[in-house]
Amino acid sequence: MTKLNGRGAAPGTAIGRAVIAVREGTEVRYRLAASGIERERQRLRVARDHTRRQLEEISARISRSVGPAQAAIFAAQLLMLDDPLLVSRADALIRSERINADWALQRAIGELHQLFVREGDAWLAERAGDLADVSGRLLRNLRPGRDPLVDLVMEVEPPLIVVADELPPSVAAQLDWTRVRGLICDIGSPTHHTVILARSLGVPTVVGLSGASQAILPGQMIALDGATGEVVIDPADDVIERWRQRGRIAVAALEALDELRTLPATTLDGVRITLEANLEIADEVARVHDAGAEGIGLYRSEFLLDGAHPDGASEEAQERVYRSLLSAMRPLPVTIRTFDAGEERWESGPRQSSRRERFGVRGIRSGLRSDERFRGQIRALLRSAGAGQLRILLPFVTSADEMRQARALIAAIARDAGLRTDVPIGAMIEIPAAALTADHLAADADFLSVGTNDLIQYTLAMDRTDERLAGQYEPASPAVLRLLRIVAQAGRRLKRPLSVCGEMAADPLMAALLVGLGFRHFSMAPAAIPIVKRSIGVIDSRKAARVARQAVRTRSAADVHALLAPVADAMHELAMAQAGQVRARS
Ligand code: PEP
Ligand code: MG
Repeated sequence: MTKLNGRGAAPGTAIGRAVIAVREGTEVRYRLAASGIERERQRLRVARDHTRRQLEEISARISRSVGPAQAAIFAAQLLMLDDPLLVSRADALIRSERINADWALQRAIGELHQLFVREGDAWLAERAGDLADVSGRLLRNLRPGRDPLVDLVMEVEPPLIVVADELPPSVAAQLDWTRVRGLICDIGSPTHHTVILARSLGVPTVVGLSGASQAILPGQMIALDGATGEVVIDPADDVIERWRQRGRIAVAALEALDELRTLPATTLDGVRITLEANLEIADEVARVHDAGAEGIGLYRSEFLLDGAHPDGASEEAQERVYRSLLSAMRPLPVTIRTFDAGEERWESGPRQSSRRERFGVRGIRSGLRSDERFRGQIRALLRSAGAGQLRILLPFVTSADEMRQARALIAAIARDAGLRTDVPIGAMIEIPAAALTADHLAADADFLSVGTNDLIQYTLAMDRTDERLAGQYEPASPAVLRLLRIVAQAGRRLKRPLSVCGEMAADPLMAALLVGLGFRHFSMAPAAIPIVKRSIGVIDSRKAARVARQAVRTRSAADVHALLAPVADAMHELAMAQAGQVRARS
């Protein structure tokens, strides 16, 4: 039994067998049940035969068009396919070690590569390039056209714990999460989109557990606690039983909050707070209702781009999704954010560097470049608007000029397509420039929504997914609070609906601070709604306003936390009292 500690990013306990996914989910490893061995051997044979046919075709084509000498490269690759140290070796590993074909093949490739290089023979070393080529083709042919992790999760017997170095949101969006009990990542942070998705789906998650994907072996039993960040490898039976009990109590505590479902969120002094939900996967809309949300404050439409179906983001498919979301929520409002994706999410091929993703042509910037995808999305949105109460939210807006241009563009798209023009259009405030000029922006927007995840990232110049800086990525930083105050004042002065949809709102203590700053509308992961609702009940908005006034004048986040200590105590006491009742009942 080994214990590790990471950062809890989505609460709940989970127990299951490890599936390892590395290199952004492209390499997967797991141990087979005896019944799975033949399937994997067959998969390997099919991949080899497919590869052989492809190489023969290429070789014949090159021989015809360029000459037989050039075609010899592929003859050499064909020979490698029959090398006993490649496919046959992988087949032996599947049988003897009971591992999946992908992993077995990767191991055989690794061993053979070592051999080529170790021999010190120049001719052999040159062949290493051919080996890489043929083995890449073989690996792709093992799961043609499919994402290895997505495929594997469908096949392996649950309950599973996915242990990844880093799991990109584009892969996470395609996983069948009903089969995944928990998630562990070497890197990542609570505002990483994959983690946001896991939290939304109620999948306990631990991040920032450096080296976990190396230390944990495929098939090992894992217990994790997504609140405390604890991970136990090969837990003893009594530990499993204790953790199961812990999980049951946590579930009972959440169920106890169920009675709040239909009640409004109100502060001690009677100020009404609206709690809406964030949503990433439209099919999960039932969670929004279950949480008692008063609408959808943020639907992250870019997750549609990662769907398993290639036409999942076509104009028609989008219209279907938006319509069903709007009618499922009617008469409550649904705020659909236009695609907020970096260039790499549009393009196939190798991923771009994250620097381009964060500072590049993303959000409304790509829309304003007359991007046909933006036009299609606007048409799909406007066509679906009759199905419910739609609000369109534009991400990554930098200035009032940009907002004005975006509105004009949307009006032109509507006119060209003969569509309605009365749908409210709002701006995300998630860039310091937008926060600082929120008054101008508010004049051109029907509503504003503050994205604190990015606002903090850009204000503090800290990548929100960098686990090394997770301790310094501070929502309570006075610099962030000053920006938030500017936005709250602008919203109030111009009488624009104003909400906060970043993760900051889902933290009960930070929500108290936001109430103090003047915010009254929040949107968060459905699971956070009952907890925030309960906590709001212990806040006095006048006291919160006093604390907020002091907080913006402090020198550091630590000072802000000190100011908030009495509020934290009151929330803690309430949670403890409730946990006591739950324990007494269970
Ligand atoms: C934000 O930036 O706070 C936000 C809500 O958007 P996202 O997390 O999708 O960037
Ligand atoms: Mg954002």
